Amino acid sequence: MTLTPVQLTRPASTTDAFLRQLVARVPGGSPWHLTEVYTGQLLVELPQSTPDDIERAFVKSRAAQRKWAATPVRERLAVFKRAHTIFVDNARTVTDLIQVESGKNRLMAIEESCDPPMVMSHYLKRAAKLLAPTRRGGPVPMLTSSTEIRQPKGVVGIIAPWNFPFATGISDAIPALMAGNGVVLKPDNKTALSPLYGVQMLEEAGLPEGLFQVVCGEGPDVGPTLIDNADYVMFTGSTATGKVIGERAGRNLIGCCLELGGKNPMIVLADADMPEAVQGAIFGAFGNTGQICMHIERIYLPESRYDEFKTAYLRKTRDLDVRAAYEFGPEMGSLVSVDHMRRVKSHVDDAVAKGATVLCGGRPRPDLGPAFFEPTILEGVTKDMLCGVTETFGPVVALHKYRTVDEAVELANDTDYGLNASVWGSDITAARAVAARIESGNVNINDILATAYAAKGTPSGGFKNSGVGARHGDQGLLKYTDVQNMAVLKKQVMGPRPGQDPDKYVTSMLSGLKMMRRFRIR
Ligand code: NAD
Repeated sequence: MTLTPVQLTRPASTTDAFLRQLVARVPGGSPWHLTEVYTGQLLVELPQSTPDDIERAFVKSRAAQRKWAATPVRERLAVFKRAHTIFVDNARTVTDLIQVESGKNRLMAIEESCDPPMVMSHYLKRAAKLLAPTRRGGPVPMLTSSTEIRQPKGVVGIIAPWNFPFATGISDAIPALMAGNGVVLKPDNKTALSPLYGVQMLEEAGLPEGLFQVVCGEGPDVGPTLIDNADYVMFTGSTATGKVIGERAGRNLIGCCLELGGKNPMIVLADADMPEAVQGAIFGAFGNTGQICMHIERIYLPESRYDEFKTAYLRKTRDLDVRAAYEFGPEMGSLVSVDHMRRVKSHVDDAVAKGATVLCGGRPRPDLGPAFFEPTILEGVTKDMLCGVTETFGPVVALHKYRTVDEAVELANDTDYGLNASVWGSDITAARAVAARIESGNVNINDILATAYAAKGTPSGGFKNSGVGARHGDQGLLKYTDVQNMAVLKKQVMGPRPGQDPDKYVTSMLSGLKMMRRFRIR
């Protein structure tokens, strides 16, 4: 294969001066070379934060957080109303940054730029209610009350991956900040630019300076100090790293939310609309170059419709427009790095060595860019192959046949992961019944992932090895708070009065319990 150097002009917004200004807020020295994925050329030198830098970032955020927590919720939310407009107005610049640092295609990048505004919109409607004190009954009617008060945790440490750097870095910070917390974010080195721009836009909207800090470095270098200084950790990344983070958070007795990997199945039922299922599977396997935690790596098809699906799917996959461009057009871009491309290739090579068949794709494409890999469909994948059991996280998908729906459900559940699943069928009631049997935090019917992920009012998280806790929904904000139970007793009536016969006290207490039950007093 001949290697044609990729000739590309970087998006106009990504000037050297702009990129240097973005990374200037990262404390540290000994820079890391952040490169343009499509060409491998240096974009900017990214400072690497030392443990001292990270501790200082927490001190700064904590100082700003005390004032922020004392700011009325209404005023805190006003910052995000302004931020929503700023984020939407600058979506194209965000898209440019996401593209240069991740190599994804433009459509995917602009869709990612929309995630933080969607999260802001949702919590702008919901946060005031969730954060308002809730008065509950006390143990003695009329004389006692208990109020549930939501206090911010303090400073939240967020560790984000490279596949959706802007969405995971900024969207997960929004409810934490609304709840009155400070944030120290550690993005992946490869993709620090778009989250840094997100912080800049939040400050432009009025977020107090210092409240939202960004530190950079390799995970094992930065992680321990970050977790040891945080009051809560929000982590998105691989299951292996999630276990390391969860262990350390547990030792420090702080809470954590872990959003981890998947090996997500798609079940096509016999009555599915096949053209729609095929189109869905194109996005499911190859959207974001197969680097979406909720994307599809296993497709289960009824024997009766296997060939029909396979023929149409292969044709569409072979026709995909795969290339490097900063314009709309390509349907698939690059993988994030040459290292990751090699990992994806190793999964395909391992499968082939153990007997799988490559129906299409299967090769790196250095002629398109250093980290390009062809959209790949495999047949005959088994559980003794790497890609049969672990997440490949690239544009590689395996087709499987099933005889009965029970068998399809069993195969779909035969995994340690449980992040997302997709069920396709015309009879929605029947499809729902199948979906309910899948051990997965998200199940989309007649869609791959967007319907569940964009439903910001519903918590989204993983079962089994795919995570702990959830983002979105009420719990996506409340997890960043501690509950304070503020109880008031207007007159001291509890316990025996001085000199009271203990038997009489017990009798009156027990009859009081019955009365409270009868009148439904809690
Ligand atoms: P990763 O676990 O290697 O890294 C994620 C982040 O953790 C990076 O910022 C990295 O620098 C940091 N990190 C690595 N080791 C660390 C350590 N010991 N201590 C602290 N931080 C550490 O994952 P990745 O390869 O960057 O991202 C891809 C993975 O993320 C995939 O498994 C994907 O499924 C998952 N993901 C999950 C979701 C979700 O919502 N469930 C969303 C996006 C990505």
